[in-house]
Amino acid sequence: MSSLRFSNITNSIIIKSLILLIISMLMIVTIGTYIFTQKQMKTTLKLSYDTNDTQLQLLANTVNNEMEQFASRLSLLAKTSEIQSMDKLIAAGYLKSYNISSLFISGESISLFDRSYNLVCNNAMLGSTKISYPIEFNRISPHKTTASPWYRDTDGTPKRAFGVVINDRAHGDGRLVSNFSIRRLWKYFSEYKVGQNGILIACNGQGEILYHPDMRTWLDGVHKMSELGLGEMNIKQDIKNNIQFVTLEDGKTYLINRTFNSSNDLGLISLQPKSEIDAMVSSVKHISRIILYSSIIAILLVSLWQILIVCKPLNNLIDHISQITEGNLDIEEFKSKRSQDEIGRLAKVFNQMHATIKRQIKELNEHRDLLEKEVKERTYELEQANKKLDIISRTDELTQLPNRRDMHKTIEKEVERANRTGKPFSIIFIDIDHFKNVNDTYGHATGDAVLKSVSSTIRSLLRKYDVLARYGGEEFLTLLPETEVNDAALVAERFRKQIENQTIFFGDQEIKATITLGVAQYDSSLGAERCIQLADKALYDGKETGRNKVVIWTEDLEKKTENAKQS
Ligand code: GH3
Ligand code: MG
Ligand code: MG
Repeated sequence: MSSLRFSNITNSIIIKSLILLIISMLMIVTIGTYIFTQKQMKTTLKLSYDTNDTQLQLLANTVNNEMEQFASRLSLLAKTSEIQSMDKLIAAGYLKSYNISSLFISGESISLFDRSYNLVCNNAMLGSTKISYPIEFNRISPHKTTASPWYRDTDGTPKRAFGVVINDRAHGDGRLVSNFSIRRLWKYFSEYKVGQNGILIACNGQGEILYHPDMRTWLDGVHKMSELGLGEMNIKQDIKNNIQFVTLEDGKTYLINRTFNSSNDLGLISLQPKSEIDAMVSSVKHISRIILYSSIIAILLVSLWQILIVCKPLNNLIDHISQITEGNLDIEEFKSKRSQDEIGRLAKVFNQMHATIKRQIKELNEHRDLLEKEVKERTYELEQANKKLDIISRTDELTQLPNRRDMHKTIEKEVERANRTGKPFSIIFIDIDHFKNVNDTYGHATGDAVLKSVSSTIRSLLRKYDVLARYGGEEFLTLLPETEVNDAALVAERFRKQIENQTIFFGDQEIKATITLGVAQYDSSLGAERCIQLADKALYDGKETGRNKVVIWTEDLEKKTENAKQS
């Protein structure tokens, strides 16, 4: 059922999925906002540009109207009879009248010239005593030109001269000339708004600044657009629908809109700071930035959470398991701070498994120790049994002497030693005399007792290194290491005497026994078997010659035996 339970990690997976979904949405919103911002920026820019352009065209039209109006008023004035009279007094009186004064602003003047360019009269009374027009304008025919380029008045004010031809047949042609002051346009320029903090600049076709909001700096003397940082710009060039930024001398970047009217010789330039346009989309940018940062922080927090809740404890658990895999069972138990979630449960199960493994290994070790102990004991018992069996296999049951097989092995070893050291050994072959009679007379059990008694007597007479074995029924063999045959014969004689002199008691029986002994010395040329045979031959001779004696094998004895056989 636990698999169906919604535990903490399952919940956290759901929460994480939701968070991931939210993050994905945030990312989409961020990207969307970014794209939107970019688009918005373009749109805003275009909108600003178009707005500025429309406004600038309107201003250009206003300026144009102002100049046209000025020109048409001048034309109307020229058509009046007073001016047409070309009469100095009449025209002068009229020009100085209050009727026309309202047509001109301070600094603007009006003069009437005759056909020879001589001044007929002017309106000097209106306040402008210094009347100036560009020299070129005076000299050229007003028939051709009605308006001059911008020039500087004596006080430095930019002005344009307008001339109207007076066709008077009676008095000859003349012309009425007036100057149009830039000041007339100031109110339009100063009221003109370019964004929040944008500026409007007016210039002529030569790039001379005619108007700048910062009048003190830029209208005191002749300044060129190039001084502002607009040197590269050709004011007369048509740049409609060309969104462009310029960086001025002040280091700021502006969106530039401009228009040039060649008939007015007037260029209008509006400069709106780029920062203003950027500011319009900055709120959108700000929000998108907040969303972006929030998304990044959320991703980092989820990652951190993931690391703290899942990865770290899992890595710790893996370390623990690795230690156990390497056989280190004595590690501390795995601790999990969150006992309720899957990792907590995993830790619990892991600790139980750890404890079980530890316990089972302990039990296995104890069991192994027990088995080892038992195996040791069994091995020892088996060794003991084998030793016993070995002894039994080598021992005669009745007399407890080494048996014939064991004696052969002992002789083999002695042969090796003798061959190595060059020291001979001797063999005594012993046979109980008329033993059959003992059996026949006293019974088999008594015979056994006699066998035992004889063997123990002979054994008691042996030296430390001598070996006595039961070789056959009532036959014994004695091996005397490092002993020459004559010395062996002495030993044999001692045996014979002792047996001869002793009485064997068995039950109420008293038995006397004798033995016959054959002695031979080992010689490497003979071999062990042959040596035994020779001792046996000597024994045989002893039997033949009366029993209860010691016979040494000699060459002579051999010959004697051969002869006896032949006869
Ligand atoms: P000799 O003097 O020529 O040696 O005569 P003998 O009677 O001793 O020799 P023989 O070979 O004729 O007889 C040996 C007897 O020893 C025959 C056998 O029954 C007896 N004998 C052999 N082994 C044992 C034994 O273990 N116990 C008893 N009681 N008798 C045995
Ligand atoms: Mg015998
Ligand atoms: Mg015998």
